[in-house]
Amino acid sequence: MSEPRTLSDPARGRAGPRDERLTRTLQFFKGVGPKKFELLQRLLLETVEDLLFFFPIDHKDRASLTPIDRLTPGMEANVRAQILDLHAKTIYHKGKHRVEALLRDPSGEIRAVWWNPYVADKLSQSAWAFFTGKVVTNKKGFLELAGPDFEILAREEEEDDSPAPMLPLAAHALTPTAPPPVVQGPDFGRIVPIYNLRPKQRRADGTEAPEVKLSQPVLRKLVWQALESGAPDALSDVLPVALQKRRGLPALPEAVRQFHFPPSFERRDAARKRVAYEELFLLSLGVGLRRAQVASRTASRKLPVTETIRKRIEARLPFPFTGAQARAFGEIAADLARTQPMNRLLQGDVGSGKTAVAVAGMLSAVAHGAQAALLAPTEILAEQHARTLHALLEGSRVNVGLLRGGRAKKQRDVFLERLGSGDVHIAVGTHALLSDDVRFKDLALVVVDEQHKFGVEQRMALRAKGSAPHVLVMTATPIPRTLSLTLYGDLDVSVIDEFPPGRGEVLTRWVKEEDRSKVYKLIIDESRKGHATYVVLPRIDGDAAESVAPAKSGKLWNEIKGVEDEVKRLRAHLPTLRFGMLHGRLSGEEKDAVLKQLRGGQIDVLVSTLVVEVGIDLPTATVMLIENAERFGLASLHQLRGRIGRSERKSYCVFFAETATEDAEERLKAFARTRDGFELAEEDFRLRGPGQFFGTAQSGLPELKVADLFRDRELLMQAREDAFALLARDTKLELPEHAGLKQRVRQIFAQRLGLVDMG
Ligand code: ADP
Ligand code: MG
Repeated sequence: MSEPRTLSDPARGRAGPRDERLTRTLQFFKGVGPKKFELLQRLLLETVEDLLFFFPIDHKDRASLTPIDRLTPGMEANVRAQILDLHAKTIYHKGKHRVEALLRDPSGEIRAVWWNPYVADKLSQSAWAFFTGKVVTNKKGFLELAGPDFEILAREEEEDDSPAPMLPLAAHALTPTAPPPVVQGPDFGRIVPIYNLRPKQRRADGTEAPEVKLSQPVLRKLVWQALESGAPDALSDVLPVALQKRRGLPALPEAVRQFHFPPSFERRDAARKRVAYEELFLLSLGVGLRRAQVASRTASRKLPVTETIRKRIEARLPFPFTGAQARAFGEIAADLARTQPMNRLLQGDVGSGKTAVAVAGMLSAVAHGAQAALLAPTEILAEQHARTLHALLEGSRVNVGLLRGGRAKKQRDVFLERLGSGDVHIAVGTHALLSDDVRFKDLALVVVDEQHKFGVEQRMALRAKGSAPHVLVMTATPIPRTLSLTLYGDLDVSVIDEFPPGRGEVLTRWVKEEDRSKVYKLIIDESRKGHATYVVLPRIDGDAAESVAPAKSGKLWNEIKGVEDEVKRLRAHLPTLRFGMLHGRLSGEEKDAVLKQLRGGQIDVLVSTLVVEVGIDLPTATVMLIENAERFGLASLHQLRGRIGRSERKSYCVFFAETATEDAEERLKAFARTRDGFELAEEDFRLRGPGQFFGTAQSGLPELKVADLFRDRELLMQAREDAFALLARDTKLELPEHAGLKQRVRQIFAQRLGLVDMG
């Protein structure tokens, strides 16, 4: 299969000769025919080794079985019994569905009751099954199993892919058959594993694939066979023994065995910990190697910020730095004074004044006769930056050039010519600055704004433009600590944790549809004070172009609204206000015109897509109205809110949302509750995980199979400490005893993290 291999993937390519015990394909296992093999492949299971690393997502305690005649009320019991009689009925007056089964084992009989109609489809009469649940006394005084979990016991696993015959639900009881022989098997008499039967790969339309039609008992049996064959002993353990000892981790073969079939939950946890640790350790090694690699590049140019330069810069800025800005700039200045390239992340909430700090850095480069580049994720932001720079540097000898996409070739050529000759000192642009034909005369500092919008590869590409430029990346998206240690683990971090003075309060409210008119009244009131409003919608085109009367019907709002329709609707509704529209389909000129009007105070309400997320800095904007807020991630919502409250005026962030899921609900509640970007980031991360947080493709993080950056924070700290200590002794993993480690790290990271020249 061509699926990219993940971190704890079956160790294809682990050092050492491949052992037949590991490479054997599952096709030759007892009970696996072509059909079953195909199902296994969908779970990316082809070899014994794949199976060994297919770890359970949960375990169930089936250590003790209770014969039916020993059940007592209140007990949580495991019963192994045959289904003699199965009834499903709807209790109409309560609107409930009741499913009832009569269970029998050699010692006696008991009823099990579920209030869930679907249970009936999964049970079949005469089947033997496991039931785990609470024993209760029913109204008539009989014992009953209340809604037990169950699992149909595997029939003999011949290659028999035809579904089990479903007997019609009948009132007559069957004659009991003998129970399957009781052996200490994979399914009972112990803690048993539960595997995830859902394939990793999503379907073409992005939805999750359904579970494959394999049962837990089938998988357990296969894993059991694999373990019995001694395959785990053939695994080469790349984790240094000294580390295993120090951290009290079991050896790999033992961990693999006990992760699947643990003798106790404590041992299960120890086994899981060992596997998670290894993932985090390898991840940290990759991060550490990347860090070392960057540091060992050819020397950068020294750009010391002398007292004279500092004074000149300060004179240029229209305000004194806040304490936090001064501290951050101090750290940057210290980096710039060295030949080792700066590799720093400047983190600060929206509006905390990162740009000003970056400008100071760029001016330091220019003061030394070198060039600087400022890279922004969108044209709008690039233009905003260029404008800010022009304004700041008016009357100075510093030339700022903006490289725009989609402009006439002639203009572009002129720009490139000036850049190549060194006439443009500070180049601003989008990723267009990364094009091959863009050449600098002497690029000494690269600043990347809104770093999380760029991929690792892009960061690498810009770095390649200068001989070894200093790099400063900026982000307003607060990065959860565990991520900053992994994804950005190779960067030094400066934090701006203080806002410039004079920031007004921002009220955030989740508004109900009934109160829509109040929101419009607020917009009108604010416009009378000369304040502007942003209205943000998820799309350019809405769902229902023709149905446009939501204010009255109050129920149509569930559809997704689009910018084009909303402008029309709002115009009709609020005829005294002046509207503008902004979205990705407008040409650069059209966007310019709109933004100019907005800044000139000729627009009261700007209706827009997410393009306003970054880059617009309009102090008079005091209202942010977000429609279909459930469609936006927390990071975007937070950025949107950052567009207002940019002066001492009081501002209002109001949003409409219809949430279908609990996660969405939690997300929006968190957004309404706090304006603290860090708190929101942790929340987002908790709810959605690292992949979603940054977009898997961009994150540059290999997927973790077992470790969880949230749950395993402590373990990450340990693994990181150990990995960095190991690299301190063996910077390039050249010692023979680290050969296996090196190969694993290479296999996992070489492409993803740009460790191209790793020996
Ligand atoms: P960020 O890039 O972190 O979102 P900006 O650099 O765009 O923030 O700054 C937000 C606003 O605050 C801008 O209008 C900027 O001019 C202003 N600003 C920045 N630093 C200061 C300061 N020290 N004192 C007063 N205003 C500041
Ligand atoms: Mg900014």
